[in-house]
Amino acid sequence: MSKDEDKIKHSKRLSKDNNAIAKQVKIAKEHGIPVTDGHRFNKHHAMDCGNPDCVMCGNPRKVWGERTVQEQRFDQQYKSDQRSTDNNNAND
Ligand SMILES: [Zn+2]
Repeated sequence: MSKDEDKIKHSKRLSKDNNAIAKQVKIAKEHGIPVTDGHRFNKHHAMDCGNPDCVMCGNPRKVWGERTVQEQRFDQQYKSDQRSTDNNNAND
């Protein structure tokens, strides 16, 4: 027997997939990529080539063992914030 909770979970999951597909279709249209079937973007991003071992669009952590751009940006921001607070504390 399915409970109300299960039905809500299922509809949430379907809605999440549809939102992700709509987002990728929007990205594809903005970049002039022809969209024949939107559900092709269910598990494949519009700007990726689709090859899971691709060096160009893969995660740098997986491909080269480096940190991602977002992580590098966060570390840089965090360190500069920490340095400025240290300087402020030293000046006080
Ligand atoms: Zn690629």
